[in-house]
Amino acid sequence: MSELPYPYEAQASQALFDRAAAVTPGGVNSPVRAFRAVGGTPRFMVSGTGPYLTDADGREYVDLVCSWGPMILGHAHPEVVAAVQEAVTRGTSFGTPGEGEVALAEEMVARVEPLEQVRLVSSGTEATMSAIRLARGFTQRAKVIKFAGCYHGHVDALLAAAGSGLATFALPDTPGVTGAQAGDTIVLPYNDLEAVHAAFAAHPGEIACVITEASPGNMGVVPPLPGFNQGLKDACAANGALYISDEVMTGFRTSRAGWYGVDGVRPDLMTFGKVMGGGFPAAAFGGRADVMAHLAPAGPVYQAGTLSGNPVATAAGLAQLRLLDDAAYTTVDAVSARIQSLVTEALTKEGVAHTLQNASNMFSVFFTDRPVRTYEDAKAQESFRYTAFFHSLLANGVHLPPSSFEAWFVSTAHDDRAVQRIADALPAAARAAAEATA
Ligand code: PLP
Repeated sequence: MSELPYPYEAQASQALFDRAAAVTPGGVNSPVRAFRAVGGTPRFMVSGTGPYLTDADGREYVDLVCSWGPMILGHAHPEVVAAVQEAVTRGTSFGTPGEGEVALAEEMVARVEPLEQVRLVSSGTEATMSAIRLARGFTQRAKVIKFAGCYHGHVDALLAAAGSGLATFALPDTPGVTGAQAGDTIVLPYNDLEAVHAAFAAHPGEIACVITEASPGNMGVVPPLPGFNQGLKDACAANGALYISDEVMTGFRTSRAGWYGVDGVRPDLMTFGKVMGGGFPAAAFGGRADVMAHLAPAGPVYQAGTLSGNPVATAAGLAQLRLLDDAAYTTVDAVSARIQSLVTEALTKEGVAHTLQNASNMFSVFFTDRPVRTYEDAKAQESFRYTAFFHSLLANGVHLPPSSFEAWFVSTAHDDRAVQRIADALPAAARAAAEATA
């Protein structure tokens, strides 16, 4: 079925994909998994151990996606698995409060200083949706500033990424989001504080909050320029708006205290997901106690969830966080740095123009020789080279994110053997990228 020039077998995955397509739109439960950006057959994975995934055809891959971030200790870490097994035997959901959710919240609050109160939810989308509602309820204002290229889950009001000029009211990016739902969203270019000041000046007393990825990883890795997050915080403070830092991706990954642990800019509200769930559906939002006090049942802003604080998910998350000590971050940062330099070395050797950008151990490669500061910069790269690079690595047992606009993730389990496999596969992939044509 694949028209790509790389010979590899994926019959069992293709058969599963065909079955899936009969019962699920596009054959997947989250669009990017379908490989539409790179073409070919998505690999249906049957198991994961440490840095490796094994697909339905029995092929093993070094995993550089790590479930899009959560698996920072690698797959099936024995202590996380043991915590899950222990929790499962006690029952899987009670619909009552339980100690596990308190312990997870305490661990998060202890690690992230601005997090005074936290509410657990089940996905990053729920976290950002709830944080926006709370910010609007607290400030009694309607408008929200977000940045082009920042993804905050599939919240209706935040699926507006298009826009032009300094303070454009966004058009929704997808059918199903009405103009009314996106109409209070102002989309601005990332890393552009002037645009933020202009938007506040144009809408005095109307802006409830600014939401930003703490360090964006959804247009590839595009860290904030020095002073950008602080500038957002200051603009919010000066205008009575809340600064919401979305740490769903960076939280407990880029340091023990996430991106806050790197830049120290104190948000009013923060959102979390991924790493804190240990591979289970757990997410959270939290921050200033006086703001969180507006949340039901303490306050009037409604928010709820049948599976919020689920005992199995919280056990997994807590076990994972407790294993993430300073030594774990040193390990994951070091292995990330090794892989980053191998990638640059291989591409440089083949004369492929590229820019590798990182935020601690998160990184991605842009096929352009210019620094990427905005979504427009990211879109200007030669993505066709990524397609060739991706498929060559896949054929040689290395699984990258199937899109050039996604961050690469590593884990503490990426050991010398895994790194060597990547090193062995890179020269051919770099050549494929060099030879690729649009
Ligand atoms: N916020 C950010 C920064 C994310 O990267 C994501 C998911 O990738 C989300 C929110 C949404 O999280 P979820 O996919 O758990 O709904």
